[in-house]
Amino acid sequence: MSKNAAYEKRLRNRIFDRDGWKCYLCDRVLTDIKNTDGSVPMDYATIDHVIPRSNGGHNRQTNKRACCWSCNNIKGSKSVGKSIRKIFAVSNHNKKEVNK
Ligand SMILES: [Zn+2]
Repeated sequence: MSKNAAYEKRLRNRIFDRDGWKCYLCDRVLTDIKNTDGSVPMDYATIDHVIPRSNGGHNRQTNKRACCWSCNNIKGSKSVGKSIRKIFAVSNHNKKEVNK
């Protein structure tokens, strides 16, 4: 692993540790291990931007949440609707925690 990749991994793990290795949308426990065939399991840990970068969201830790592969895909394909409203409800709920 290159120095840079190790640094990236540490940053990612810090967010997963902060969020307790749970998806902020569906609450499922996340894994950092891919399937033996190299495919990505539904509960694979990913980082999601609460406010998408394309929507003016910043790249700091407060805009990032631990998110499972499955939810990240669902959210990515929908720009409006239930999933987005839920995201904002969750993000408001967590504000106190995040801002400290
Ligand atoms: Zn999820």
